[in-house]
Order: sequence, then C-alpha cells, then structure tokens
Amino acid sequence: MRTIIEPFRIKSIEPIEMSSPEMRSEWLTEAGHNLFRLPAERVLIDLLTDSGTAAMSARQWGAMMAGDESYAGARSWYRFEETVRRVFGFAHVVPTHQGRAAERILFGCTVNSGDVVPSNAHFDTTRANIEYLGGHAVDLPCAEAADPTTDEPFKGNVDLAALEALLDARADDVPLIMLTITNNTGGGQPVSMANIRAVAELAHRFGKPLYIDACRFAENAWFIKQREPGYAGTSIPEIVHEMFSHADGCTMSAKKDALVNIGGFLCTRDPSLAEREKNLLILSEGFPTYGGLAGRDLEAIAAGLEEVLHEDYLRYRIVSTAYVVDHLHDAGVPVVRPAGGHAVYLDAGRFLPHIPALQYPGQSLAAALYQHAGIRGVEIGTVMAGRDPDTGAERPPQLELVRLAIPRRVYTQSHMDYVVEAIVEVFERRDRLAGYRITDEPPFLRHFTATFAPLG
Ligand SMILES: *Cc1c(COP(=O)(O)O)cnc(C)c1O
Repeated sequence: MRTIIEPFRIKSIEPIEMSSPEMRSEWLTEAGHNLFRLPAERVLIDLLTDSGTAAMSARQWGAMMAGDESYAGARSWYRFEETVRRVFGFAHVVPTHQGRAAERILFGCTVNSGDVVPSNAHFDTTRANIEYLGGHAVDLPCAEAADPTTDEPFKGNVDLAALEALLDARADDVPLIMLTITNNTGGGQPVSMANIRAVAELAHRFGKPLYIDACRFAENAWFIKQREPGYAGTSIPEIVHEMFSHADGCTMSAKKDALVNIGGFLCTRDPSLAEREKNLLILSEGFPTYGGLAGRDLEAIAAGLEEVLHEDYLRYRIVSTAYVVDHLHDAGVPVVRPAGGHAVYLDAGRFLPHIPALQYPGQSLAAALYQHAGIRGVEIGTVMAGRDPDTGAERPPQLELVRLAIPRRVYTQSHMDYVVEAIVEVFERRDRLAGYRITDEPPFLRHFTATFAPLG
C-alpha cells in the first residue's frame, strides 16, 4: 500500500476552536503580532514545538494510575531505572524534571570557567547552561549542513577534522564532548553511526568523555536503519544500543522521544560522577529516586521509551514529516531538505526575498500563516538571533527560517494536508506580504515577548 496510516485509533479527543481570518487578524494585533503571546485556544494547528506536546497512549495513562508515589525507592522508580538501563545501556541513571535540568547538573559537575565544549550543534538550553558557567559552547557541524537545498542523508554529522583540530589545539580546556541526535538546531537532521563512532574514537583518543544529547534518539535510529548501509536488517533497539555503546553518558528531555509531557534524565558510566550528580540533584531537583518527577511521570516515561521504539510508530512519524516537506517542495515552496525528524523548516529568506533581514521575513511568514489558516509556527531567524551583547547590533543568522514542529501522535494526515494547502496559498500571494518592525523588546531572548508592527 502507498498510504501509510496512523498506527493508532483515537480514544479521547480535544476539540479545536474554529476561527476566521478576520478574527485571527484582530487576535494577532492584540498579541502584538507575536505568536508566543497568543492564547493556545486561538490556534487551529499548533506547531510551535514538539516538546511536551505528545499524545500519550492508553497504556501510558494506565501505567500512570499504577504510579507509586513513595518518596524513596518507589516501585515506579525501579521500573523507570530498569527501562532506561535496558534501552540505553548506562549503569547510572539520574531522573530530572526536564532536559535542561540534566544539562545543568552534568555541566555543574564537569565544566569550569574558560572551558570549551564542542558539539555538532548545541541546543539553546545546552549552550546557555555551558555559558552560564563561563564555558564556551562550540558548534562544529559538517559542511553539508550549511546548504538547505541538498539531500545529503546525515546532515547532523560533526565535522571530524574541525573537532580533531580543536582537540589538538586545546584538549586541556575540553571537559567533555557533546553530540546532539538528531540535530535540533540544524533542522532535525540525523547523525550517522559512522560519525558517532568516529567522534567517540577521537574523544577517547584524547581521554575525553562523549555525552549524547539524546532527545530524539529513536528518530535518529530510524534514519540510520533507513539510510546507512548495513543497518536495514538491524532492529531499532539494537541500533539504539550500538549508538549509545560509543558514549560515556547522555542527557535526555523525555518531552521529545519518551512520548510524555514532562520529564528528563541523565546517564553516565562513571560511578564517582554519578555520586556528585546525585548530590547536586538533591539540592534542586529532589531525592535520587524521583528527581523532581511524580511516580506517575516515571511510569509514563518508562512506557513511552518502549513505545517509541516500535517501527510502525517511527515509520509513521518520519513519513508524516517528509510528507509535508515533499508536497511543499513539489509545489515550489522553499523548504530545508531533506526532511528532518520532528519539524518542517520553511526557508523564509527564499520565500520572501523582497523582505530584508532587518524587516524580519520569518516573522512576516509566521504571522501570515497564522492569520491565513490559524497555524502557529516559530521564527528561527533574525528575531530569535537577537543582538550582539557587546555592540547591541542585530546579527542576522545564515538562514531565515520558520519552524513547524510536529507534535507526536497528535495530528492526522488531514491536518497535514490542511497545513500544506495553507502554506501553498500563502506562497501564491507572497508578493503581498510586508515586513515588520519591533515596537518593544526585552534585553534577552527577545523572541518570546517582543511586540511588532507591520510595515506598509
Ligand atoms: C528540548 C531540548 C533540550 C532541553 O530539554 P527541555 O526538556 O526543554 O529542558 C535539550 N536538547 C535538545 C536537542 C532539545 O530538543
């Protein structure tokens, strides 16, 4: 069959409040033309993020009822710990309330002021946690990552020559190496097994541990199975095991590939590091057998980590993202290619070439998609890049993008058909879209709260 169906039936639904373009124009003005300021009820299809927005299964909800809320040594903790050990293969597991808490604890135990932490590309909370400690977060993406128009299979890879050069020059300042799979910042692009292996070999040659930012580990494993020679016959759990066998530990936001709404964890093979991490954990997150989570959350994560490895789920997940990207590409809409795992990235710079960077083409496109069809995406361009902290000048990034992140198991193919149709309609009248100016902005992370006014 050519049609790949959602591998689930819907048992519980959440109504979408319908609205008209006229109503949304008014709401957009009320929100200062910033989609972060919109009440979610005013959105038809919410593609702001895939983080914490998954639909849970009946099995997960059932497991939550069985959650053990004992403070220490709860049954749910042992189930969670056993599952994480089995899936990832690390001896020591530290639960946290979300991914950034795992990052803060790992770096709090390993990074000192002046240190350098290389990665294929750091996620923004990872970078912020390293910089908060006075460290430098260095991105070393492979060369193919820079061109959004080519179909290279593993654009999430690390530039190995650049990593080796950095280690040759400054090994003493490098406490650990990070690897983000899939590469969120770079378009949800996967990292190959060969690259993971090579990064680990380099790291270990210099005596450095490799930590994987594991948020989308199952999606990455699916890409390896599909695209990397030699893995077509290997099961997803085996691929996951092999990926992590090269690493010394990982950080995880369970809000992504654990199919839950909150949670995270941190793993390591190093018993003395695990002790220090648990001491920090007690200070801010909680006792080491719950780490800021309820017993029911630990149950839902354990069940989610098993469900996310099912091939039917992963096929549906990756195919539905590619479905949107391929239809848009066929209609001539500029998109980042190839399709990544969790999101569709519109290339607003090529979509709206008549709007200069400092009139925010991504902001204009995101606002137009909301006004036209009630779809909420996020600008990843000049607005999000913000200002140089030293000069105060705006620093446009290489690409002006709008990210449409796809929540897991939430929307159906007809929702995605609607998204494609809406984007194509906006594309057909792109000449009529104008830029924006900022009317008010905070000093940091301005994209969350800034207000805008349309030009012209
Ligand atoms: C979401 C995310 C994080 C941070 O996790 P939170 O649960 O949001 O704190 C870290 N790294 C990557 C790649 C992510 O996508």
